[in-house]
Amino acid sequence: MKNFEEVVQFHGHVCPGLAFGFRVAQAALEALGDRSRDEELVAVVENRSCAVDAIQVVSGCTFGKGNLVVRDYGKQVYTFLKRPHGEGVRISVKWIAPPEDQEMTSCWQRFSQGDRSTEVMRAIKAHKGRKIQAILQADMAELFEIRRVKEQLPEQARVYPSIRCARCGEKVMEPMALMVDDRLLCLPCVEIEKGVES
Ligand SMILES: [Zn+2]
Ligand SMILES: [Zn+2]
Repeated sequence: MKNFEEVVQFHGHVCPGLAFGFRVAQAALEALGDRSRDEELVAVVENRSCAVDAIQVVSGCTFGKGNLVVRDYGKQVYTFLKRPHGEGVRISVKWIAPPEDQEMTSCWQRFSQGDRSTEVMRAIKAHKGRKIQAILQADMAELFEIRRVKEQLPEQARVYPSIRCARCGEKVMEPMALMVDDRLLCLPCVEIEKGVES
């Protein structure tokens, strides 16, 4: 299993969202078994946040391979399904951060008023660090609502032949090209030609 350091390296910074994604992927692998080598595991994520980077690194479900499906509902919900039967787990984040003390509240207030002093920035960084540690150390049951599901699997990634766009000459996968006046065009070129006409 990938560790949190490897996830941070991929993502480029450390943040609470990344910590959540790391724990989500951990929970999924615990429940379903091994990291996805080919396409046996599919992740359906319901947001586009830092968490999704951690999920790609740890679960092996990646955007490029096509076994990561993004349904951007802005929800902290992640479903992992196994091919071919579609059984899996739905993980919903339920964790609530512990309440902030007076000092931190006034710190955020100063920050929102534009205060970027060393004192304020240091306090915010420390606060974020504590939050990340809390997420990394919490029990799964404290963080998530996890339930077993069985769902229809999204269509498997397919490879299509490429053609050359008749206008820009760049390669485009065939089903994405449109026939306009007997010429096969890529979508950006269709937009350009439409603009020229109107
Ligand atoms: Zn981040
Ligand atoms: Zn084109």
